[in-house]
Amino acid sequence: MDDFIRTSADERHSAGVRELWRAGAERGDFYRRSYEGLYCGGCEQFYREDDLVDGRCREHGVEPELIVEQNWFFRLSRYADRVRDLVASDRIRGEPAARRNEVLAFVKVGLADISVPRPAARSDGWGIPVPGDPSQVVHVWWDALANYLTADPGRWAGAAERVHVIGKGIVRFHAVHWPALLLSAGEALPDVIAVHDYLTVDGEKIAKSAGNAVAPLDLVERFGADAVRW
Ligand SMILES: [Zn+2]
Repeated sequence: MDDFIRTSADERHSAGVRELWRAGAERGDFYRRSYEGLYCGGCEQFYREDDLVDGRCREHGVEPELIVEQNWFFRLSRYADRVRDLVASDRIRGEPAARRNEVLAFVKVGLADISVPRPAARSDGWGIPVPGDPSQVVHVWWDALANYLTADPGRWAGAAERVHVIGKGIVRFHAVHWPALLLSAGEALPDVIAVHDYLTVDGEKIAKSAGNAVAPLDLVERFGADAVRW
């Protein structure tokens, strides 16, 4: 069954995200501190210096912006060993092996705690308010990942197998942040994370921001939905 969820408008989503936040908060997985970081607006995430190439975002080729703000942090560091073991033991199977190894290399050096929400003032009027702190809204990585669960918690929990099929640019979110979030909230983990490369045009990633997008419906008309998915 296909189930598309619009996370900005669907009440089952916002209620689910608040519940996940509370579950993590009960475990003491959030704390507040001042934060300074390099932020790519295109990726909507902070980067470490060594994530960048010549000081630029790998995905967007732009220099991230230096941002200083008060922020809530999630204790990702607390889950580093467990996430590493889950991927290393193939309890969460990363496919293909090169992507699995990329995840293990990333986790091996340890994980820094990461900011979850952003100030409501920087959210363009959108976002789910942090329970107990309306000055902050839950940031896109946390809330976007949560949609797999919030769309239908019973189906997520009861599935025989939970499989993500994702593009290579979001491996870290799915293989590191997402399992940590689920461990924190006491929810079931994914079983397989299958990672594909990008469809390209003239060797460049297809992206709205690059202006080289191809309308998927035209492709579906010509080749069929399954061929395009493949
Ligand atoms: Zn970027």
